[in-house]
This record gives sequence, structure tokens and C-alpha cells, in this order.
Amino acid sequence: MTGANSQRLFHEAQAYIPGGVNSPVRAFRGVGGNPLFFKGSEGAYLIDVDENRYIDYVGAWGPLILGHGNKKIVGAITEQLQHGIGYGASTEAEVKLAKKICEVVPSIEKVRLTTSGTEATMSAIRVARGFTGRDEIVKFEGCYHGHSDGLLVKAGSGALTLGKPDSLGVPEDYTKLTHVLPYNCITSAEAFFSQNGDRIACVIIEPIAGNMNLVTPLPGFLEGLRALCDKHGVVLIFDEVMTGFRVALGGAQSVYQVSPDMTCLGKVIGGGLPIGAFGGKQEIMDMIAPLGGVYQAGTLSGSPLAVAAGICMLDSISDPKIHKDLAETTQRLMDGLKERAKSNNIPFTTNHVGGMFGCFFSEEETVSTYNQVMSCNSHSFQKYFHFMLEQGVYLAPSAFEAGFMSIAHQEVEITATLNAAEIAFSKL
Ligand SMILES: *Cc1c(COP(=O)(O)O)cnc(C)c1O
Repeated sequence: MTGANSQRLFHEAQAYIPGGVNSPVRAFRGVGGNPLFFKGSEGAYLIDVDENRYIDYVGAWGPLILGHGNKKIVGAITEQLQHGIGYGASTEAEVKLAKKICEVVPSIEKVRLTTSGTEATMSAIRVARGFTGRDEIVKFEGCYHGHSDGLLVKAGSGALTLGKPDSLGVPEDYTKLTHVLPYNCITSAEAFFSQNGDRIACVIIEPIAGNMNLVTPLPGFLEGLRALCDKHGVVLIFDEVMTGFRVALGGAQSVYQVSPDMTCLGKVIGGGLPIGAFGGKQEIMDMIAPLGGVYQAGTLSGSPLAVAAGICMLDSISDPKIHKDLAETTQRLMDGLKERAKSNNIPFTTNHVGGMFGCFFSEEETVSTYNQVMSCNSHSFQKYFHFMLEQGVYLAPSAFEAGFMSIAHQEVEITATLNAAEIAFSKL
């Protein structure tokens, strides 16, 4: 049910932009059909170029925890605009944001801002390599850490949606240095480390995997990785670009009480503007230029507009009530969906933490591994996605993306979503 204006724009876009999109997961390849084009948004809603309104569970892929067009965030950006768009030099505001991040995430003693999550993970790995003097790294199947070369091995998100875990153009010599282990399997990590631990610079992991749908860590998994890294002198990096400030103010590390050596951030800290950050222990972070020999830079890093939005965002969500409300609303939606799936005899289960959730068309009671995610019924998801869209609910156009709740989603939106789901399930 793509409207005429979206159809026309998509047609034109394909002439000038590869695939008509500026990021592959925006295309509807995972669900079939053509993508919608949007022109506006408000609270929990997106408005497309054909004037259709949708309850939005993408939230710009995570940042919009306060909903679309939040007045405080818009005000903070507008205020900064009066003073300047960018100076290419230091500002008081970036010090304030850095201090705030260090206060909220105690494992971060020093932090550097970037322009995207991809840069944050790429730079964190470079620092970990510089710090340890080792080249090899470990990542986990189905985890996505942005699109830098060495990390596009068995990656999640768009790389999964397209069924291409690896990318052309990535030299094999780069990915030879990347070892991939199964998520949530501590015994295989232990076996790997007993053979190779002393050659590994860092382990990078999404502490809650949000790019293969949503998979939470099994009890003992993150703790086990912490112990292995300690034993072998390996830097443990939590990629909290998605989970940071979203599952709890202090991120997944505060939920599971496991402290990494380095943390990558993005999404929420820019309030919707382009930003990323990486930080961690002082002795590691002091390896970075101009203090140390690890080079890292960025023309637009610490953009005053993004920093203004970020400070306002962190101030706005520092009241514990925000994450409590988000978690309750998410819980209500998940319970309601499971109930309706069950009454329609649809095999269906969910995972959720704080304001993030995942829905699975699966016979399994719980989904906690990459293989379980991959064996979900993708055909059911595709049909469900389009039935929901027809009824004004915009879900991520892929079975491998997490869903995002905002505080603008109130009782009326949850009820409308559940009513839509009742109809969608009954038609499957
Ligand atoms: C989105 C995401 C990234 C990449 O961030 P970009 O800003 O898109 O470059 C990295 N890691 C995780 C866990 C993400 O969800």
C-alpha cells in the first residue's frame, strides 16, 4: 500500500541513488514492496508523503527515545543555531557532554566524540590494538558494529537482511584478523581463548544483541567474557551504540552489572543528530593522539548542534521514571502481542529490555541464539509487516531489526497497535 507519491519518489530515487536509499535497511528488500518516503513526524507518529500517519516503532533506529519533534530537543538545537553551526574548534558544551557521559556510565573515564557509531567502533578497536600491541579481534555472529572493513564478517542488521553476511570489497587479509564466535555460548569462547587468547587485542560485543532482532545475554555470558578478557589481557569493548541510554540510563552494563574496558555509544546521545562516542579506562584512552600514538580524528566530531541535542537528551532522560515508563509500556505491548498471537494459534515469542524489543515468529518459547533467530518464519513476518503497515503501524522493514519504544507512545497508541496486531495475526 505504498502511496502514489512514495512510488513516484522511489522511482526517481533509483535513478540517482543506488537502490534508491542511503542505507540498505531502509529499502524493503527484507519484506518485499517499495519503501515509504516521509515528510513529517510528531510524537509517536510518522507522516508519509501521501499524508498517511503511522505509529512508529523504528524511532530513527533508536535515538528518538522522547518521540519525534520533542520540544526540549528541538529547542536546544534551535538555541545553538543562534550561536553557530560549527566552529571546528573546542566548545564548553562538548566538555559538559563528555563529563555527563562519564558520570552516567562509570566504566567510562574518558570519552571522545565522533560523528557516527561506525567511527566509534572502528576507533575503539584501533585504540585497543594500539594499547595491547596485538592485531587479532573477536566479534560475535549476528552482532553489527557499523560498516568498517574488519567488522563486516557475519554481521547483523542490513547485512543479514540481504542474506550477505560478508561484503565485496573487503580484503580477505583484513577479515583474517577477525574471529567470529557464537553469541551466548561461553563454552566456545573459553575453548577459543585457551588456544588463542594471548593473540587477541579485543573482544567487541553488543551486550544485548539488537541487530539480529533482539537477543539478550544468557546469565553468565557477559561475566564469562569479562573473566576471559581479564585472564588473557584482552580489552573488552561493549558496543552500546544501540543499548546506551535506551535499555537503562547506564546502558546494558548497568543492567547486567558487567563493566567493560571500553564502551561505544551513538544514537540516543545525539538526540537524532549524527553522533558517536567511544570511551573507557583512562590508561587506554590516553593512547589516543595528541596524547598517545593512536591516530583518530573528525572534522565534524563534537558538532555543536549534535552536542546540544545530546546534552538536552541526557538531561531529559535522567529521571528514572523515564526508563521505568518505557519498560512498562514495552512490557504491555509485548504481553498483548503474545496474547493475541496465542489466541490466533500463531507461534510467536518476544524479547525485550527497557525500551527495546524483538518479535519472533518461532515455535521456540525463548530465542537466545543466532541460529534460533535465523530459523524464524520469515514469510509470516513479511505478511505481518504489511498487514501492520496497512493499519498504520510502521515496524522496521526486516525480521532482523529490534523495535524501539518512546515515551510518546501512550495507552492510545499501544491499544491501536494491539488492535492492528489482532487483525494481522488473524489473517496470517
Ligand atoms: C547502529 C549501530 C552501529 C553503527 O552506527 P552508525 O551511526 O550507523 O554508524 C554500531 N553498532 C551498533 C550496535 C549499532 O546498533
